[in-house]
Amino acid sequence: MERLFAASETEIRNSYTTDVYFERTKKILHSKGMDDTKVWAEFTLGSLPNKWPWAVLCGTEEVLRLAEGLDIDIYGVPEGTIFRSRSPKGIRVPLMNINGEYTKFGEMETAILGMLCHPSGVATAAARVRCAAKDKKIMAFGNRRMHPSISEVLDRSAYIGGCDDVASKIGADIIGREAVGTVPHSLMLIMGSDEAAFRAFDETIEKSVPRIMLIDTFSDEREASINACNIIKGLKGVRLDTPSSRRGSFKEIIQEVRWELDSKGFNDVEIIASGGLDENSIRELIGSGVSGFGVGTSISNAPTLDISMDLVCKNGSSISKKGKFGGRKYTYRCPRCLSLDVSLSFDDNIKCSCGSDMEMYEIQLMKAGKRITKQEPADIRRYVISQLKQLGEL
Ligand SMILES: [Zn+2]
Repeated sequence: MERLFAASETEIRNSYTTDVYFERTKKILHSKGMDDTKVWAEFTLGSLPNKWPWAVLCGTEEVLRLAEGLDIDIYGVPEGTIFRSRSPKGIRVPLMNINGEYTKFGEMETAILGMLCHPSGVATAAARVRCAAKDKKIMAFGNRRMHPSISEVLDRSAYIGGCDDVASKIGADIIGREAVGTVPHSLMLIMGSDEAAFRAFDETIEKSVPRIMLIDTFSDEREASINACNIIKGLKGVRLDTPSSRRGSFKEIIQEVRWELDSKGFNDVEIIASGGLDENSIRELIGSGVSGFGVGTSISNAPTLDISMDLVCKNGSSISKKGKFGGRKYTYRCPRCLSLDVSLSFDDNIKCSCGSDMEMYEIQLMKAGKRITKQEPADIRRYVISQLKQLGEL
């Protein structure tokens, strides 16, 4: 078989996926005897896409896995930090700083940025969906819109941003949960009827899997929901994936199904909605009697963040290219309103506009290639949720 279009871990670690100009830079520095030039590199971005007021930093764990063993130090804000790109004075806030010989990590720039930029976009989109969905369940269904080689990254990022569960097995493994899902319309079409598919699911699939039936393949959602309740004892829920051409008002269809279920005594049967949902449509559906959402493209196809890596210090002296601010900088945060600020000093006294004293927020993540911190996805997710609550977004 010919190889698939997916870089292997070895190819990524050996910088086979990097932009060739980093390899050339390393070669030139080596030829001029400048291998040992020590630098500070900072990771910042100028603005957020989609007019987002804030974003969720995601991907730090993978960067640390990539950098492990390289003779460098890494500092940064914790993964899961909710941030604005600039300080109140307009200075780009460093999300991460790397200190070491440039030739030890320069070639990794493409991979490091890729591990932060897209995952942070996905986690931010998921967090925005979380804010719209409030306390309802959110399941990440969007892997099919992206290349399968990044399924694990997509699901981890969606979960960290606030999704409750994910659909892929590889994604569920990395977050330490069971993959969730019902069946595709294909099963109903092949078996010939909703009823046959409901019964076959119940007979075949292990009892630990919640019985949630897809009810919009052939008949009216209301009729099929009651049918599913009557066929499957202990039905957990019904999923409505009504195509947009048949929707009219999706909200009213859900309200009607909820009414019918309640009136027949199936009050505990949940309604899960899916199909082209985003934060806006979810906001409209809240309060319709829906219990959860399957969300796909609007999370996995999130805009990537333009985080860049810039050298700000060389052999102890401040440097920078045009348009960037030189010097090794420290990130501070207000414990009350979570605003971030920047200083060249590690023991600055910065007053937040809300009146609180800012605190040093940066932590050391790696020392001489050895990891100092490690956080599980569930802990990072909890941190995201707690910040959203503190900001009044949730
Ligand atoms: Zn404040």
